[in-house]
Amino acid sequence: MVYDCVIIGGGPAGLNAALVLGRARRSTLLIDSSKPRNAVTHASHGFITRDGVKPAEFRAIAHEELSQYPTVRRLEGEVAGLSSTESGFQVETAEGEKFAAGKLILATGLKETFPAIEGFHDFYGKSLFNCPYCDGWELKDKPLVLVTESNRALHMVKTVYNWSRDLVLCTNGHSIITDEQQRVLSGKGIRVITEPIAAFLGEEGRLAEVRFAGGSSIAREGGFVTPQFSQTTSFGEQLGCERNEMGGIVTDSFGRTSVKGVYAAGDTAVITPSQLIIAAAEGSRSAIGVNTDLTEEAWEDLAL
Ligand SMILES: Cc1cc2nc3c(=O)[nH]c(=O)nc-3n(C[C@H](O)[C@H](O)[C@H](O)COP(=O)(O)OP(=O)(O)OC[C@H]3O[C@@H](n4cnc5c(N)ncnc54)[C@H](O)[C@@H]3O)c2cc1C
Repeated sequence: MVYDCVIIGGGPAGLNAALVLGRARRSTLLIDSSKPRNAVTHASHGFITRDGVKPAEFRAIAHEELSQYPTVRRLEGEVAGLSSTESGFQVETAEGEKFAAGKLILATGLKETFPAIEGFHDFYGKSLFNCPYCDGWELKDKPLVLVTESNRALHMVKTVYNWSRDLVLCTNGHSIITDEQQRVLSGKGIRVITEPIAAFLGEEGRLAEVRFAGGSSIAREGGFVTPQFSQTTSFGEQLGCERNEMGGIVTDSFGRTSVKGVYAAGDTAVITPSQLIIAAAEGSRSAIGVNTDLTEEAWEDLAL
């Protein structure tokens, strides 16, 4: 069988795309390797009707909703390869199963690379986060550390300042703060520490201390660390999809990429702001893009 659409990735983008396509009576295969980027967090915020939901619960609700639609098949697995064919695409899983698709939606999300600092992963998703819109409320008015090696440090400080004014900016050994920025930050009472960080310390995920290479330390209860983002898979690149300057797959307002028949949704296209509700909306619009194109193509065939 040739599926109308195969969706690769079952985060909010892929799940919402499957819902909209299933309801549009399109045969849809959703393949997901179940490695969501937000798995480390206990609660997700900012999605109306789902504020505070656990990531696993969010997915369980979505799976239950999708199970109502016989048009949608959900497969646990990892897509290991894909290629173009005369009638569309062939997708192959790591287990060697092959599926044919008329259209493809890439919804594989992003991966994050953080500075290699001892203890970081004990606190990530519990008291250290990467996005103030997701977790700033829970850290409001606490003594926070901001760790960034990026020259967007001032932007990060300005954003987080809204949630807490008790901030220490750490550049982990990188000289990224100009004299003018240093003057502005001092004026706001924000200390800048450029010394490399040796470790994050605390108990049961609650940060208590940031220790520096020279042995000194500061007491902090939480904070934000800037990651570098990259694509989870190279599928977009392999297929020849155009990318933007941030590495996201370029799409039009219906999720169409520069390659005919290939659509992209969620973090893989948006990069920032990276939010569940935005990813879900992206999934919806790429599904509408797929359905619109299938409808037009079928209509033209009938006219022959
Ligand atoms: C710690 C943390 C906390 C966050 N908190 C919030 C929050 O509170 N509120 C909020 O709005 N946003 C939050 N986010 C951001 C949010 O999680 C993302 O924006 C959102 O998950 C993106 O959805 P997506 O569907 O694009 O990608 P993802 O959710 O990353 O899903 C991608 C899926 O694709 C699958 N996949 C990848 N490669 C393959 C392959 N080859 N074959 C098959 N499947 C594949 C993965 O297993 C994964 O399930 C948080 C992120 C992190 C890291």
